[in-house]
Amino acid sequence: MHSSQNSLRKISEEVIACTRCRLCQSRKNAVPGEGSEGTKVIFVGEAPGEQEDIQGRPFVGSAGKLLNELLESVGIRREDVYITNIVKCRPPNNRPPRKDETNACKPYLDRQILLLAPRVICPMGNSAIHSLIESEKSVTELHGIPFEEGGLTYFPMYHPAAALYTFQLRKVMEEDFRKLRGLLDSLSD
Ligand code: URA
Ligand code: SF4
Repeated sequence: MHSSQNSLRKISEEVIACTRCRLCQSRKNAVPGEGSEGTKVIFVGEAPGEQEDIQGRPFVGSAGKLLNELLESVGIRREDVYITNIVKCRPPNNRPPRKDETNACKPYLDRQILLLAPRVICPMGNSAIHSLIESEKSVTELHGIPFEEGGLTYFPMYHPAAALYTFQLRKVMEEDFRKLRGLLDSLSD
């Protein structure tokens, strides 16, 4: 069993009380992440938005609605995966997280990844992709292709919010979710 020092619950409790960066001053609620301990896959966004900040849960606004639809379209239940962000508190007016904020927050994600030991990590959007993998390339080139690094398998994706702005991306994301489903199905238990 996990020691209490390092359970998902412990990490969430630390995040909720965290003051490691300035974002603690403007947040309503920190958003540690949520999902199943038994998951094979973890989805990582950029940072909580307005709805997430209000509810303390990841991907519950309009991007979250699209993420839910994409998951459902390939028969993945949201409750069966883990969903979180690079930065656990909402930046004011949804500005991009700053480097010092990302650096301050990253240890929480690293611990979540170590604990969950997912078979696949899906960074969604450039910000999450570049916080997690060593590549100069953008999501345009990296999406939908497994990327191995440091013994972990990444499957970069577009951020669902991008598909809210650029309608054609929705088809691309649907195809990437089908590929992800195939990748997960190909893994032995
Ligand atoms: N966008 C993100 O990157 N994360 C969320 O939790 C919601 C919107
Ligand atoms: Fe702490 Fe991360 Fe929130 Fe900054 S963003 S206060 S490091 S939990």
